[in-house]
Amino acid sequence: MKNVAVFGSTGSIGTTTLRIIQENPQIFYANTLVAGKNISKLIDQIKIFNPKHVYIISKENATVLKEMFPNLDVYYGEEGMKEISKLDDSDIAVSALVGIAGLEPTYNMIKNTKRVALANKEVLVTAGEIIINLAKKCNTQLLTVDSEHSAIMQCLNGEENNPIDKILLTASGGPFFDKKITDDITVEQALNHPTWNMGLKVTIDSSTMMNKGFEVIEAHWLFNTPPEKIEVVVHRQSLVHSMVQFVDGTIMANIGPKDMQLPIAYALNYPNRLENNVEKLDLFKVKNLCFEKPDLNKFKCLKLAFDAIKMGNSAQVVLNAANEVAVAEFLEGKIKYTDIANCIEEALQNHKPVNLNSIEEILNLDAEVKRASRSIL
Ligand code: NDP
Repeated sequence: MKNVAVFGSTGSIGTTTLRIIQENPQIFYANTLVAGKNISKLIDQIKIFNPKHVYIISKENATVLKEMFPNLDVYYGEEGMKEISKLDDSDIAVSALVGIAGLEPTYNMIKNTKRVALANKEVLVTAGEIIINLAKKCNTQLLTVDSEHSAIMQCLNGEENNPIDKILLTASGGPFFDKKITDDITVEQALNHPTWNMGLKVTIDSSTMMNKGFEVIEAHWLFNTPPEKIEVVVHRQSLVHSMVQFVDGTIMANIGPKDMQLPIAYALNYPNRLENNVEKLDLFKVKNLCFEKPDLNKFKCLKLAFDAIKMGNSAQVVLNAANEVAVAEFLEGKIKYTDIANCIEEALQNHKPVNLNSIEEILNLDAEVKRASRSIL
């Protein structure tokens, strides 16, 4: 039996993770659940999974939980997040908080758990080098939950000694790939993702293709590959989850149903696969697989992500911070859709790259850029 800590249990990835745990009670036990504000969903999860430790942001909600479940170990607030992410009684920690809020907890998980299943993209975007080095130093397996990176990892299995020509990172293209990007795009339109059902922020990031930019940065760190060797390929059907082209021209592709259960379960039970109830892919119904080039003039955020890699680590922190602010303001109806890319571009233009050697320095720069971005918007 493996103890699993689910950080972000009430979110899209967290909920899917818990479904896998529920379907495999002989293999997994969710001993830790970490949520943000959604107390009613967390209460339901506590009743079903009977965890040992839980976290919720506010003290008021934590008091409610303690009264309802007196034997439960309940954490809250900033200190509580530090403490729960440093517990060492889990075999696997799933990092599925959203945004840079997941960085420090993930850093702690890597130090205290043998395996971290990483969904949170912002962790590698802002601190790729520190996180990869820490995982090596602590001998912690860092297994990605992102469908694209899980696909690349699977394509590289057993190929350690074979140099690659390039990584072909697939992208759905989001809701605007075949449409014009205009000022009057509404929140509802941007949230209308054609293939994936995800949390709000990542859905907006997918529509601007910043999500793909983040994934390029993640692939750069995870597979130690320069950005010139990472090509974004738009594949509207989202059935090829990514590919690797080797020096002899062979392309290995990972193809399968578009369901996050597959990469999550693979990370949880690596290297063994788990059976599931997901409908298998019928290639005779698919018939054709199509691939297109993204237009970097139209999807400015994707271009800005490539620029940020060239500028260095601190620029990637700036890219993420400005994006977090702009996406939140867009979701609240305070700025126009096109202001998202403009805000990030301005933040990068104003930034002089510096060396960042610790999580603290990264969080300080993040806070500084967020203050500046809010004042611009
Ligand atoms: P959601 O918005 O659906 O879920 C986020 C989770 O984090 C919720 O449980 C939320 O709690 C919790 N949370 C947010 N902030 C805090 C905080 N400060 N303290 C404690 N808990 C917090 O996001 P997703 O599940 O969609 O995505 C999670 C991460 O995984 C993102 O980085 C995303 O880019 C990445 N990802 C997502 C994919 C997907 O298919 N959804 C695919 C690949 C990667 P609550 O709701 O209770 O407030």
